Amino acid sequence: MPYQDILDGIYNEVFQIENTGKVADYIPELAKIDENKYGIALIDKHQNVFSKGDALESFSIQSISKVITTSLIFSKIGNDLWKRVGYEPSGNAFNSLIQLEYEKGIPRNPFINAGALVIADLMLDHFENPKEYFLEFVRELSENPTINYNQKVVQSELENGYRNAALVNFIKSFDNIKHQPEEVLDFYYHQCSVEMSCVDLAKCFQVFANNGIIPKSNSKFLTSSQCKRMNALMQMCGFYDQAGEFTFKVGLPGKSGVGGGVVAIFPNQYTVAVWSPKLNKKGNSFYGLESLERLTTITETSIF
Ligand code: GLN
Repeated sequence: MPYQDILDGIYNEVFQIENTGKVADYIPELAKIDENKYGIALIDKHQNVFSKGDALESFSIQSISKVITTSLIFSKIGNDLWKRVGYEPSGNAFNSLIQLEYEKGIPRNPFINAGALVIADLMLDHFENPKEYFLEFVRELSENPTINYNQKVVQSELENGYRNAALVNFIKSFDNIKHQPEEVLDFYYHQCSVEMSCVDLAKCFQVFANNGIIPKSNSKFLTSSQCKRMNALMQMCGFYDQAGEFTFKVGLPGKSGVGGGVVAIFPNQYTVAVWSPKLNKKGNSFYGLESLERLTTITETSIF
């Protein structure tokens, strides 16, 4: 497959479309980004890297981090995880509180903020130094030892994250958070603040396209069943209340973040990451979705 030509074509075509998206400004530090950044990277099953535009520039991965924390906990505690969080699409915004009361503090899935906060609580339970462990793991998956947290973004979220503070306290009132809300938020904001490039992200997600095996070390991180389930979660919940549209138009498991990153995988074939900070109304990268819709259409590589 001539991936480089395909990426070049998609990039040039998408850049012509008027971008009606808006940079996330509810986290003030994220609003400082140059909104015209646009990069795309694809890694095929032979580890060849193809890229275009700002694909080597680091950005805030935000909610994309939720896939990594969830998979770490899933690999540690197995199906006990589903006692604490569900695996159904939410049909609601990523930061919604609405379902939590009806569902007695069990978040619908681990990728909405409510669910990710429960996973953050589990990270504090299962790792002695969860921040260090998480960072090391992300560095290993992306084969990039320079990846780091951005403390300014952590601070910015801490100062403005009223909804996340409400969520964690509300869930705690149902006894589904064990640690102190401040500790949970501290870990959660760190995981969201990690900065990676499109190439880093595409490398990082190879484990999900590779049946749970980390390609570099050939070590089995997730069982085949766990890997299947992580991909199913990305398919159903990766784009919140736009997961249906992403499935309809792109047809791959994937995950977005409010930093403008989107990553998707085609099992056993490739991983792809796009970054463009302007988000549509559902909080997903406008150009990200436009790019991936073109990619799967041109290459005929949807899983459906
Ligand atoms: N840190 C962000 C928040 O909690 C993550 C949201 C996202 O990327 N969708 O609001």
